[in-house]
Amino acid sequence: MSQSTVTTPPEHGPAVGLDEIAAALLAADRFVVASHLNPDGDAIGSARAMEGLLTSLGKDVIVYIPDAAVPLEYEFIRPPSLTSEVPADMEDRVLICVDCGNESRVKSEELLARAKQVLNVDHHGDNTHFGHLNHVRASAACAAELVWELAGHMGIESPSTEVATAVYIGLVTDTGRFQYSNTTPQAFELAADLLRAGVDSHDIFSRVFENVTFARTKLLGRALERAIQSEDGLIVATHVRQEDFEEFGAIEDDAEGIVDALRSVEGTYVAVFLRDLAPGGDHLRKGSLRTTREDIDVSIVARSWNGGGHRQAAGFNTSDDLEAVVARVDKAIRDQLGLDD
Ligand code: 5GP
Ligand code: MN
Repeated sequence: MSQSTVTTPPEHGPAVGLDEIAAALLAADRFVVASHLNPDGDAIGSARAMEGLLTSLGKDVIVYIPDAAVPLEYEFIRPPSLTSEVPADMEDRVLICVDCGNESRVKSEELLARAKQVLNVDHHGDNTHFGHLNHVRASAACAAELVWELAGHMGIESPSTEVATAVYIGLVTDTGRFQYSNTTPQAFELAADLLRAGVDSHDIFSRVFENVTFARTKLLGRALERAIQSEDGLIVATHVRQEDFEEFGAIEDDAEGIVDALRSVEGTYVAVFLRDLAPGGDHLRKGSLRTTREDIDVSIVARSWNGGGHRQAAGFNTSDDLEAVVARVDKAIRDQLGLDD
């Protein structure tokens, strides 16, 4: 350890059990909980749950998400302390990252560099162990599941209904409403525990899944109308352009879920979705990949554009067009499956 209180997180810190993460949390008083840009239900849910647990222990907690952005459907669990600013006393705070596969997902080098200690709790198999202490469990259905387990390790016997609700949102969204291959017996057991803790699953369904804006519906329509299939139908792909967002008055979050609609097409091995990013950034587009097959790992393909994610769901940024992206994905899955070109 250096003399300075500022410690740069190691590239590959040790993997530890949740008991060690819990001990580090109990030992500190001030925290920043961080999750990733374009937060999904698990990012918001696990951050909100972590905030709730630490607050219940009387700790000082700030949640950091780039742009402090919360998609409309998760507004009702917006973490009260959410900010997009690095606190002035960051050197005195422990940073706990949830649902972030690597440091670039945290989207703030300053936050990582200035934190007193970096804890990394995640379920992405390709997590880079960027924290001083890392608990990465790819078998967990969602990062929120790990936060719920942490409560027990911290001696919190009955987390609040607010915490349980946030965890349930991570679980129900990351498992595709209990349909994806990460829907293990433990996932259902967790759901049962959460319902016993007061979660109203029907209310969450209405708020999260039946609150779709008209703009989002129109954007989905445009995306589907423009969908293409690769020659042998193994890939279904589409691209939503800046003009489409403008035409419908849609926002970035409205593209959520389009890739899942593509994946459901009969015979599809991989769904590819590209959407234009706001002009002026490093890349023109954001890509999403989903596979229906256990023997394909789309996170490998996403990493070839410096992205990443899970075996079955991954993302990346690129300036490539749809044709180039589909060609690379096609080659990658043929390599993985040993098919002829
Ligand atoms: P989505 O396609 O919904 O944005 O993301 C699917 C999965 O891939 C999520 O688990 C997400 O965390 C991860 N992911 C998305 N974009 C990126 C990226 O640019 N880099 C990395 N490492 N993971 C990503
Ligand atoms: Mn997740």
